[in-house]
Amino acid sequence: MHIPLVDLKRQYLSIKKEIDEAIQKVIDNSAFIMGENVEGFENEFAKFCGIKYGVGTSSGTTALHLALVACGVKQGDEVITVPYTFIATTEAISHTAAKVVFVDIEDRSYNMDSEKIEQAITEKTRAIIPVHLFGHPADMDKIMEIAKKHNLIVIEDACQAHGAEYKGKKVGSLGDIACFSFYPGKNLGAYGDAGMAVSDNQALVEKMRLLRNHGYQKKYYHEIEGYNYRLDAIQAAILRVKLRHLEEWTEKRRKNAKLYDELLKGSGVKTPLEMEYAKHVYHLYVIGIEKREELYLRLKKNEISTAIHYPLPLHLQQAYSYLGYKKGDFPISEACTERLLSLPMFPELTEDEIKKIVEIIKKKN
Ligand SMILES: *Cc1c(COP(=O)(O)O)cnc(C)c1O
Repeated sequence: MHIPLVDLKRQYLSIKKEIDEAIQKVIDNSAFIMGENVEGFENEFAKFCGIKYGVGTSSGTTALHLALVACGVKQGDEVITVPYTFIATTEAISHTAAKVVFVDIEDRSYNMDSEKIEQAITEKTRAIIPVHLFGHPADMDKIMEIAKKHNLIVIEDACQAHGAEYKGKKVGSLGDIACFSFYPGKNLGAYGDAGMAVSDNQALVEKMRLLRNHGYQKKYYHEIEGYNYRLDAIQAAILRVKLRHLEEWTEKRRKNAKLYDELLKGSGVKTPLEMEYAKHVYHLYVIGIEKREELYLRLKKNEISTAIHYPLPLHLQQAYSYLGYKKGDFPISEACTERLLSLPMFPELTEDEIKKIVEIIKKKN
């Protein structure tokens, strides 16, 4: 019995009819670019987040870039984020020609350590991008307080955290703009690339709408130069169907996480914490273990797929050698890259599968 890290096919089979009809309808109408599904999904997902407006994009990466450009972030500016995230977060910053500045994470939620933000702020700092990593929200009240004091923009990287909550409020409704990815493996995943930026700020939303679609409202009359960052209509149609199931899938993820937590008690591995302010949506179920390589190989031998998110922190990546950081600069992030292991996690994962995984983990600890 092979157990995959994620199994997108199980989910597709459970909603096949709805999905196939939605795709066919777009093709029947030949309505591939923008239109009612894009607008419909923007409204429905924004509402899901408790926010007024959504701007559909071609990916989470382009949503982040769009957000930064709309906020006026440019060359000479600095943007603060964490080195323990997927590179898309920092690529978006670099693509505006602003400078990436890192602060370390804290080792309970694996999110930005708000205590370390202020020492990284300079006259050039314009924005902070907290990442709700693995589906667990960052400590947003503290981050927003610091941002307010220093007049900084906050863009949530919510690409892994659809539906997660901070003090009862959905992520996406906490910063100035929030960016989501609908990459197939995310908690709400398209059947290709897709993303969205959400915000209550009408002026920023209008700017993002313009930039996303070549800088025009009236066709071929361009107010500014923009990008082709549009959300594909077929993906929007698929996402509208899937959004209707998201709450149920989130509850299944949480149930799976609780079972893992329960069964892993006393096993010596560190299970993920849910801070008292948080509702975790377990995009990933990530455990901490000293002898990671040994466990990884043992699970692999038993046909259980795991993954390492992430094996090297961004400040030590070759791509960022020009920033001049060195080993030891962000010790918590570095330790996490050495110790954390992602176990299979998806809504359709069964109780028996979780039991088998835990049995193998416990065999030798
Ligand atoms: C997936 C992800 C992104 C980028 O999303 P894409 O849709 O793949 O471009 C950005 N940030 C984080 C933290 C992610 O996990």
